[in-house]
Amino acid sequence: MFDLSGKSAVVTGGSRGIGRAIAAALAQAGATVAVTSRRLEEAQRVAAELQQEGHAALGVALDVTSSDQVRAAFETVRQQIGGPDILVNNAGTNRRGTLFELADDDWHFVLDTNLVGAFRCAQEAARSMVPTGWGRIINIASQAGVVGAPRLAAYGASKAGLIQMTRVLALELAEQNITVNVVAPAYVVTDLTRKALEDATLRATVLASIPRGTFIQPSDVAAAVVYLASLEAGMVTGHTLLVDGGWTAR
Ligand code: NDP
Repeated sequence: MFDLSGKSAVVTGGSRGIGRAIAAALAQAGATVAVTSRRLEEAQRVAAELQQEGHAALGVALDVTSSDQVRAAFETVRQQIGGPDILVNNAGTNRRGTLFELADDDWHFVLDTNLVGAFRCAQEAARSMVPTGWGRIINIASQAGVVGAPRLAAYGASKAGLIQMTRVLALELAEQNITVNVVAPAYVVTDLTRKALEDATLRATVLASIPRGTFIQPSDVAAAVVYLASLEAGMVTGHTLLVDGGWTAR
């Protein structure tokens, strides 16, 4: 089960945190993985680490807010490892603030990365998937795109948008045998959340909201991605798989 041998995968934002774990899990399942970062040396560092573990990997520079960079990065992937057959839209960012704190710039910054960036990458990846008649697009949203949380208007809206975009693309690509799904984690301790979670009140609120009682691990998210990328998940499309320790079951 879940053998990805012969498949090529792109993981955006694979330099650290959840993306790093996803890249490793896909590689362990047999895929050749292109890891991206805005800094080429970071992408190449992770690719080299995967290669040292005996996997096939490539480091590619990519800022998902630039259409030109997205086109160039996918062209590099096409030429060097083929495909991709699998795209994981993991690159993401956040700006926290209340209604009176968030400015236009914060909204544009968050939406351009988390939502439009994922669209740009899906468009380029699908250009390679359609002719082959097989593909997997997996978007990393968040439980914050399903339930409301204070100070997360821009982030929550970007992730809710990603969930809805996923449904639309799933319908548009179903006949081409390309599935499009979401993995939506609750809080994982990474560079994205570490500072916010230093606030004892937020930390306690978050843990109290997760019935399992602990933070989610990057490997929990990666396992869900490997499943959705697999041959076995071919009939699962347009779905949001929450990896939230039960948060949204309330
Ligand atoms: P990190 O901050 O640890 O990593 C973010 C990754 O995204 C980095 O690899 C970074 O690459 C990349 N990135 C950021 N902006 C861009 C950009 N403009 N173009 C390309 N890459 C970019 O975050 P996490 O690992 O925590 O988050 C990964 C994903 O998971 C995000 O989509 C996030 O919203 C989502 N998520 C996270 C949760 C959490 O609690 N941590 C919970 C739910 C969802 P680099 O800086 O090297 O360019």
